[in-house]
Amino acid sequence: MISKQSAAAAVELTIDGHTVRVPEGTSIWDAAREAGIEIPALCHDPGLEPAGVCRICVVDVGERVLAASCVRQCSEGMTVETDSDAVTLQRRQLTRLLLSEHPSPCQQQQRTGDCALEQLGTGFGLLDSSHPTAVSADAPQRPQDHSSAVIAVDHQACILCDRCIRACNDIQSNDVIGRTGKGVTARIAFDFDLPMGQSSCVSCGECAAACPTGALLGHTMTLPVVDRDQMQSVDTVCPYCGVGCAITAWTHQGTIVEVEGRDSPVNQGRLCVKGRYGWDYTLHPDRLKTPLIRRESAYPKGPLSPEVIDSLPGKRNKPGGLVDLDTVMPAFREATWEEAFELIGRKLTSIRDTHGSNSLAGFGSAKGSNEEAYLFQRFMRAGLGTNNVDHCTRLCHASSVAALMETIGSGAVTNVFADVARADVALITGSNTTENHPVAATFIKQAVKAGTELIVVDVRRNQIADFAKHFAQIRPGTDVAFYNSLLHVLCRDGLLDRNYIDSHTEGFDEIESLVAADYSPEQAEEICGVPAEEIEAIAATISRATPPGGGGSMIVFWGMGISQHVTGTDNARCLISLCLATGNVGRPGTGLHPLRGQNNVQGASDSGLIPMVFPDYQSVADDEIRQKFNRAWGRELDAQPGLTVVEIMKGALEGSIRGMYIMGENPFISDPNANKVRRALSELEFLVIQDIFLTETAEFADVILPASSYFEKIGTYTNTDRRVQLGRPVLEPPGDARQDWEILCEVSRRVGLESDYQSVSDVFDEFTSLTSNYQGLTHQLLGDTGRLWPCADPETDDGTQILFGDGFPTENGRGRFVPCAYLPADELPDDEFPFVLNTGRVLEHWHTGSMTRRSKPLNALQPEPFVAMHPDDLQTVGAREGQRLRVTSRRGSIELKARADRGLQRGSIFIPFHFREAAVNVLTNDALDPHGKIPEYKVCAVKVTPVISTG
Ligand code: SF4
Ligand code: SF4
Repeated sequence: MISKQSAAAAVELTIDGHTVRVPEGTSIWDAAREAGIEIPALCHDPGLEPAGVCRICVVDVGERVLAASCVRQCSEGMTVETDSDAVTLQRRQLTRLLLSEHPSPCQQQQRTGDCALEQLGTGFGLLDSSHPTAVSADAPQRPQDHSSAVIAVDHQACILCDRCIRACNDIQSNDVIGRTGKGVTARIAFDFDLPMGQSSCVSCGECAAACPTGALLGHTMTLPVVDRDQMQSVDTVCPYCGVGCAITAWTHQGTIVEVEGRDSPVNQGRLCVKGRYGWDYTLHPDRLKTPLIRRESAYPKGPLSPEVIDSLPGKRNKPGGLVDLDTVMPAFREATWEEAFELIGRKLTSIRDTHGSNSLAGFGSAKGSNEEAYLFQRFMRAGLGTNNVDHCTRLCHASSVAALMETIGSGAVTNVFADVARADVALITGSNTTENHPVAATFIKQAVKAGTELIVVDVRRNQIADFAKHFAQIRPGTDVAFYNSLLHVLCRDGLLDRNYIDSHTEGFDEIESLVAADYSPEQAEEICGVPAEEIEAIAATISRATPPGGGGSMIVFWGMGISQHVTGTDNARCLISLCLATGNVGRPGTGLHPLRGQNNVQGASDSGLIPMVFPDYQSVADDEIRQKFNRAWGRELDAQPGLTVVEIMKGALEGSIRGMYIMGENPFISDPNANKVRRALSELEFLVIQDIFLTETAEFADVILPASSYFEKIGTYTNTDRRVQLGRPVLEPPGDARQDWEILCEVSRRVGLESDYQSVSDVFDEFTSLTSNYQGLTHQLLGDTGRLWPCADPETDDGTQILFGDGFPTENGRGRFVPCAYLPADELPDDEFPFVLNTGRVLEHWHTGSMTRRSKPLNALQPEPFVAMHPDDLQTVGAREGQRLRVTSRRGSIELKARADRGLQRGSIFIPFHFREAAVNVLTNDALDPHGKIPEYKVCAVKVTPVISTG
């Protein structure tokens, strides 16, 4: 975390005869470590606050009793002995005592040979590693707890060092673990001494990572049983969310055995449940291993019969909600790579030459690397001649980027999330941060504990609201009214940063008039449902953090609760206006941070997977820029911006789009109005899918190419902070599956585009040479912790953390206020469809579930779809928790189990979008934001009825 500490005075002492000089306040343990002297400890870990519980780390400081070095601070002139006879004797006696109640070998010692207590015992000659030692007969017998899907608890192996308690409470701020009992009955407890699996534990595994013995051990660290020194380790990055946590993957004989958090500026070793336990999808037997071509007998593909269209996606499920290969695979035959490439080249060039380049379109992937994204858009633009290339950024933050580009001239976050530690105020809006960006949330929660005041604005009360000073529960789709009202109060009371407005912005007068006239707190209360007094109180908190003339600081985080609306761009414009008006951009602790969803959605956008821009947001319509790319790729490129995701699907439905190439996306489940998407996919003349699993979308393919998973390839990924990190290969792809970059080079050649790169780093070098923000970065210079773009000197510099301290990349260097009037959502509830549907993610799953639903621990934690409703609404519709409900919109209907949730306001329901057997996008509205072209996933009208059992 970024430190507010000022430089401390130094003290000089002697440790084992060495003179050591350290800042005042340094512990003896840290000072010794600095001097290369290791002091053993069980309860201490450098990442945790010291507790001095186990006293294994005792040292002799010349006093009557030995001192615990982890908690004892160095003092001027102190003389320390770390291995005197008295010290050794005490450590040995303590170890003997602990071992008398510890099963040897414990489960950790059995698996990896690194139980810290047993290693100490062996060192003191107290254990013979070849002979198990029974727990002494008069020691208290303690139970095991296997209720958690990811962690096995063995209370007998616990030494009550409290490391798990500090990891859970201080690092992750989950506050699940404490102690229960006294004396010999004392043991750790989860919540009110519940079994771990029934407690509020979110399975992040921080406690197991901190545990020095086998008391808490990850279930999935299973086979093979092997000593850690026989494993190989690879430093890479988590494949899931935009936080981009650094990980180390441990392997043995071609299998991942364990993943642990790695120290980096991003996550400081922390992980969430997906990063720590969700890697086994890559080993799943459903992996595609050979190219597939649709059999002649499986044509025509469509349009599908009305019976099929009306059937729910789940009708052909096997248990667990995965594609049923037994029913889908007969439509395909195995093929050689040459057959597949020949067919793809022939069909795509034929469609291009007969119907024109713009009858083709492609979706790239925000899960792939920057190099793959770059090659994909090059293939579409230079190989097939069309700018019809897009990806899932269109479905998450396209409106945020549109607003940022328009107002401050850049779509990038202006500051990293960890800088929340320096913020006086943090505003989180439209983001279920603890579930969608769990590790970023840990930094925010820690900042709150250290004094940052948190404001949470959302339609649904999520866990992060428990840390908030203010929680404003707005009505769905009323964000503009709420934020205009905050600005109204700040303007009315003269609580703005006028110096900043005058020197760094333009267009303030217009927005001031708008909010003064129509957005008093009382007027806004009518629209958004937040009491006027609460709006006044929130404005007061913001004003205290941003006093006129500057000085305080506020950082703003937002998620898809802001962006996925027909007014998504307006919503983001309002947040930008709030920061500009209070001078909260370009300084420590300030900034605009739309939290990016997928691991590489920032990088895929940077790399040009956007229909209007080449890499680095360079407009396809700009002649000079286009000439540059013409020269680089040896083609005359199209000046016409291409179609976006939903427009492409519309084109497929209407016949103007005839062929598609989809790499690593699953639009059948992820796009709005799924029945329309299904018809569009079935209308396509030719569809190529490049993926690691046979997804729901692949069921409509003509050719399916088996690709490599994240853990099987090298490439760069850019996280939500703009940090470019190197992902490294851990495993070999299965069967005949190939590297994505090699596949893209070959299909490019088959449509006539030279693509003779020697390596992935060659591709990266070409990409960076065509940008200004990635200039100078190379695979080699990224090292283990990556670089933030832009980076003036990647040899020596970590990159630019805070952007726009001295102006914006707009024509006149000023940020622009764009006034927005409140407009209602596209489809409001009525008598027939009285509920508002909100969609989103859950902690354990990721997007269309193709990876996480093939991860045993993740699927065990969250195995089935659900609809969350306020308990009073459940009663109103005549249902109980756990009962099956039918949810129906104007576009379709799904069935799933009810879950009571008091965090929802009356009249709103929530359904996660990961589950094909209750695919919520059957219900959603495909109305678009006119600027970002993002669909309104967050509001549509539905009705809810209990399913009457006919059995
Ligand atoms: S897994 Fe995470 S949330 Fe659960 S008890 Fe351990 S540290 Fe706490
Ligand atoms: S927070 Fe995101 S990047 Fe970090 S471990 Fe979890 S899913 Fe992976």
